[in-house]
Amino acid sequence: KMTSNENLITKDNAWETGKGMPFSILTQCLEEIEGISARLEIQQKCCTMFRKLITLCPADLVTTIYLCINAVAPSYECIELGIGDSILQKALVEAAGTTNAAMKAKLKDMGDLGLVAQAVKSKVRTLGFGAKPKPLVVSDVLASYRKVASISGTKSQSVKVGEIKKILNRANGIDSKFIVRGLQGKLRIGLAKSSVLVALAHAFVLTKSAAVQEAEEKLELTEEQIKEYPEASQTLLNPKTPIGERLEAAVIIVKKAYSECSNVDQICDAALVHPLHDLHLHCKLEPGRPVEPMLAKPTKSVQEVLKRLEGQRFTCEYKYDGERVQVHLCPDGSVRCFSRNLLDTTDKFPEAPEFVKEACADTNVTSFVLDAEIVAFDSAKQMLVPFQVLSTRKREMEKGEEAKVKVIVQAFDLMYLNGESLLLKSLSDRRDLLKKHFKVVEDKFRFAVSIDAQEDGDTAAIEEFLDAAIKGQCEGLMVKTLDTNAIYEPTKRSLNWLKLKKDYLEGMGDSVDLVPLGAYFGQGKRTGTYGAYLLGCYDTESEELQSVCKCGTGFSDENLKLLMEGLEDAIEETKPKGYVVASTLEPDVWFKPCQVWEVKAADLSTSSTHKGALGKVAEGRGIGLRFPRFERLRPDKKVEQATSSEQILDMYYNQDSVKDFIQNEGGDD
Ligand code: ATP
Repeated sequence: KMTSNENLITKDNAWETGKGMPFSILTQCLEEIEGISARLEIQQKCCTMFRKLITLCPADLVTTIYLCINAVAPSYECIELGIGDSILQKALVEAAGTTNAAMKAKLKDMGDLGLVAQAVKSKVRTLGFGAKPKPLVVSDVLASYRKVASISGTKSQSVKVGEIKKILNRANGIDSKFIVRGLQGKLRIGLAKSSVLVALAHAFVLTKSAAVQEAEEKLELTEEQIKEYPEASQTLLNPKTPIGERLEAAVIIVKKAYSECSNVDQICDAALVHPLHDLHLHCKLEPGRPVEPMLAKPTKSVQEVLKRLEGQRFTCEYKYDGERVQVHLCPDGSVRCFSRNLLDTTDKFPEAPEFVKEACADTNVTSFVLDAEIVAFDSAKQMLVPFQVLSTRKREMEKGEEAKVKVIVQAFDLMYLNGESLLLKSLSDRRDLLKKHFKVVEDKFRFAVSIDAQEDGDTAAIEEFLDAAIKGQCEGLMVKTLDTNAIYEPTKRSLNWLKLKKDYLEGMGDSVDLVPLGAYFGQGKRTGTYGAYLLGCYDTESEELQSVCKCGTGFSDENLKLLMEGLEDAIEETKPKGYVVASTLEPDVWFKPCQVWEVKAADLSTSSTHKGALGKVAEGRGIGLRFPRFERLRPDKKVEQATSSEQILDMYYNQDSVKDFIQNEGGDD
């Protein structure tokens, strides 16, 4: 429902100070969100707060967004909070004038340091100790978080305690709860980044800054000019578009801008000054900032590939088994590398930037963004080496030794070149430019091996190529459209990129990436470790984690130990918010969502206990995995990048047994 700017302003006196948004307004909103599970309601609450900010304090909009998503900088800056509990406890003891023993007792009783902070700080206030502190505004809090995150060196612990104490001294009970949780790096209120982006997009439609209103009033576009705009922008430019469709178009625009620039500062700066239909012009892919990578859909046979790509020219590339890397040459000459989840990995494989620079040394490139896979490589045998070997490389580098595991860069796409985005060019054109400006460098840089095929592609030739890929230590093939529907679509799990993995030609078509939700204590040989884990997929709609299997196989003894240690800090006393788990499956310990594991399974079936894609196949039933097997950790994936319930549903329906059943029954029940 539309509300005018004026209504929003007059309601809240606290905003009239002109000194920035009081932190208490944000914490009140977070407190309310904590008690809500309906995603739309959560988005609405955020949206109202963002609208007020656009009108009253636009400078604090981005600050508030960072605090909502519990970040201090874009993810590629790799600045993490995650302050340890001992530092927080010390600061809290000093700020609340209590004792260590009293604090420990309270923590034992309440089990959550945030709640303890709220309790002890509320007391300080009620008793009226000390001079009245200057009220906190959101920019104070973010500045303090940033300072704490940047403190390093020998005395860092006591300096951090001092800084945290300073901010806690000015905070009331509820503020303190969220400051402590924010510094721990876990807000735990179920406010995912995607919800924040939706709320932001809605806010930009419903409330416009003065600059945007002025720009829109002056707008004079001909019909021809409007046709040049992307579809969602055209929807906004049409004055007759109903509000519901405007909101949907805005979400598409904001999410697309984010997938290209992965930076909320940039989005807010642009959208506070320029009309939303122009956002794509101001939030573009730029070297130095990672772009969300394009993803592929799984398939199970060459026939399925041919059927899906009917009528289109496509290419089959080896699917390398290594680590995805996005290599950026910035206009200042520096080269930076980013991982699949947009973290800066330039120092992880220090030779990779050098290899790529060598590959384009003969051409006059000034900037680029290249998509590639870093693969372990045995130069003596001229063979690629499996991923397991690449993953041992990290430990060697930590010791600072000369790396024994050598790597090679296998390039497969080019998204930006010499100041120009190539995202809207076809793969065929992007690949031509890649091959024109880069050259093979022995043992260092190569292009993905590929064969091109027509719509009437020869099944036998593709199967032979798949065999050759597997023999060459690859996982299978990536099949990509070349000319039509062949642009680079950031974030998108596109039907224009299909993956075909040999191991899964039968069964599910792909492994899945799941989040450990909890664990069961082991018995017999496994006493002292966990015997099995409860794993879940991520439902992007509801932002919940739905249990899909209990997994007790595929773990070596060493793995069991390492996984248990790795999850030690993630243990939660009670079931975290947003977990959809049947009471009959309740584990011995719960974990906060923090890891992603790759799991293979025999197949998927509907289940009365598991909750994957709940209610989508049959009422009250979910989808579960049968005979799941742990494969490996996926440190390159965030929880939100785990297999989604939509993918689980796709995989379920894609099984031959299910397809046959549906055909015979003539329905999908
Ligand atoms: P998903 O989220 O799709 O499950 P994933 O990270 O688990 O992705 P895969 O399912 O194995 O990975 O498939 C996509 C990955 O394959 C890419 O992220 C990339 O790292 C890798 N890859 C290897 N060779 C290629 C290639 N030729 N083209 C594109 N990606 C490739």
